Amino acid sequence: EEMDVDTIWMDGEFTDWADAQVHVLTHSLHYGTAVFEGVRCYDTEQGPAIFRWEEHLDRLYQSAAALDHEIEHTREELTEATLELIRRQDLRSCYIRPLVYYGYDSLGVSPEECPTDTMIACWPWGAYLGEEALEEGVDVMVSSWRKHHSSMIPTNVKATGAYINSMLAGEEARGNGYIEAIVLNKEGDVAEGPGENVFMVNDGEIYTPGLAESILDGITRQTVIDIATDLGYEVHEEAKIARGQLYTADELFFTGTAAEVTPIRTVDDKEIGAGTRGPVTEEIQQRFFDVVERRTDDYDDWFSYV
Ligand code: PMP
Repeated sequence: EEMDVDTIWMDGEFTDWADAQVHVLTHSLHYGTAVFEGVRCYDTEQGPAIFRWEEHLDRLYQSAAALDHEIEHTREELTEATLELIRRQDLRSCYIRPLVYYGYDSLGVSPEECPTDTMIACWPWGAYLGEEALEEGVDVMVSSWRKHHSSMIPTNVKATGAYINSMLAGEEARGNGYIEAIVLNKEGDVAEGPGENVFMVNDGEIYTPGLAESILDGITRQTVIDIATDLGYEVHEEAKIARGQLYTADELFFTGTAAEVTPIRTVDDKEIGAGTRGPVTEEIQQRFFDVVERRTDDYDDWFSYV
């Protein structure tokens, strides 16, 4: 799969794809010290609309601060750069990837005098786990890799180095014929997916692990909590979910900017519920897509129109 990108914004300049390069001695390339975001822009009747941009920007600046990065650009600059990238490339819908990284100066682990550089790219990106996954659900395995505890790497910030764990868990799952992994935390309870949060449905109530379980506080997670609550569901958002509860759940699903709302149909080859998308998952998923594609006027303050 090749990325369809013409223009990349790098520290104030709109750069051609071919010129958007960094030096091999870039600090963040060696030590995984960058922070990033993943954001979606949806095609709506009112034109392209970026979903929860302000919340993603909040998390980007918070992640940056946690690693002592000082982003040399204002929120307004990053916003304008992103809108301009979408307009210039005539994108209707896309994935947006801002990255903040320690650039080139010295290669001690301490970033010392390294500049904090920033780039933003956008490209069209369909359903992360496949279009049919949204309807039929995905087969997942519980990874043999545990999620790093938040006392080891701040799991609530989106730092590139933390994704070693995601890559290993995901590749292990795919190498064993599954679509994705579920990763347990250090205590052995459910944390999240490699790039998704996990939700469980039991007896019509909804459960999802809280931040104390060493998860990323997903913006889609928060969105689904809001949507489900407004639909009248009881949502337990600081749930401890034991591994065994996965096998006996009525329904399970993933949430994430890339994965959106994706049902989980099996865990370790055991069918969850009827082994298809469950009714609560379907209702929330439908509502989610109605919201992000603006088939409703509700939640309009979640959107930045291009
Ligand atoms: N957990 C991890 C580890 C992730 O990488 C992501 C994707 N950003 C998520 C959860 C979901 O977060 P969000 O809904 O903000 O995309």
